[in-house]
Amino acid sequence: MASISVVVPVYNEDSCLRELHARLTDTLAALTDRHEIVFVDDGSRDNSWTVIAGLAAQDNRVRGLRLSRNFGQHHGITAGLDHCDGDWVVIMDADLQDRPEEIPRLLARAREGYDVVLAQRGRRRHPLPSRLTSWVFARVFSYFTGMVRDEQVGTFRVMSRRVVENLRRMREQLRFLGGMTDWLGFPTAKLPVRHDQRAAGRTSYSLRRRWLLAKSAIVAYSDKPLALTVRLGFFIAGLAFLYGGFVVVRALVHRVAVPGWSSLIVSLYFIGGIIIATLGIVGIYLERTFSETKRRPLYVLKEMVNTAGSAGRDEQQ
Ligand code: UDP
Ligand code: MG
Repeated sequence: MASISVVVPVYNEDSCLRELHARLTDTLAALTDRHEIVFVDDGSRDNSWTVIAGLAAQDNRVRGLRLSRNFGQHHGITAGLDHCDGDWVVIMDADLQDRPEEIPRLLARAREGYDVVLAQRGRRRHPLPSRLTSWVFARVFSYFTGMVRDEQVGTFRVMSRRVVENLRRMREQLRFLGGMTDWLGFPTAKLPVRHDQRAAGRTSYSLRRRWLLAKSAIVAYSDKPLALTVRLGFFIAGLAFLYGGFVVVRALVHRVAVPGWSSLIVSLYFIGGIIIATLGIVGIYLERTFSETKRRPLYVLKEMVNTAGSAGRDEQQ
């Protein structure tokens, strides 16, 4: 029977974990005789780690990884993927918005011949502002990258072992699971699922954090901003050229004296602004290149429980 691993990134979710564990074990027991649940504590400030360690003490199928600080959800997931060995790997949120009870359906779909099955949350139970920003982001992301992004798809998914093995070879710092699995190109399906309200606690994605995430996802998957600035440069140069011609003709034909100061100062500020903006765009890419070339580990582990079987994988970081 195929084994199943469930990878759960955890950031300040101490009040959700016990229920999640109970519901997951019920569901998984019906599916397989070999499963593991990998909780990755992404530097929580609450009691999440104590709860994880407690669950691991009762249930040896629970593995706990504790990162040294908050690295971000996708880095947490990376740590989990590096330390799980199921034939099928499920990724889900800890806050019970992704329902463990949907796993059998996702898995059944995957067995029809898909390496990735994405849960599609028909009616997302997030507050309006966060749904709105996701929607805008999905549009902007598709424009810049040419990749279709569905805002109804989150991280909840089932992936085959070969997808996970390939993901593990992708060690870029800018991690954005959606874009990475799309890039791999294995057969992918979507399955509509029910989405629940957060069971307890609150979202860790503020508007500011969502903005930063959106920016890095676009920079990670597109060089279009660079191409656009080149085009903009040529466009402005073209306009200046036309205007120059117009000024010369006017001087020769109509003998108009040098016009005033305003047009000069306006274009000066305009061009100045554009130069600063485009330099900034180049700077952002340069900074990304710089941080990738450092090749730092993607996460740092502080503690582990019940991970004996997956020891020796740390050098993969
Ligand atoms: N998460 C994480 N590290 C972070 C932020 C979030 O591991 O820095 C986890 C969080 O515990 C949850 C999942 O990522 O399991 C999704 O986070 P959240 O529910 O806050 O996002 P939302 O559902 O509001 O988009
Ligand atoms: Mg959530």
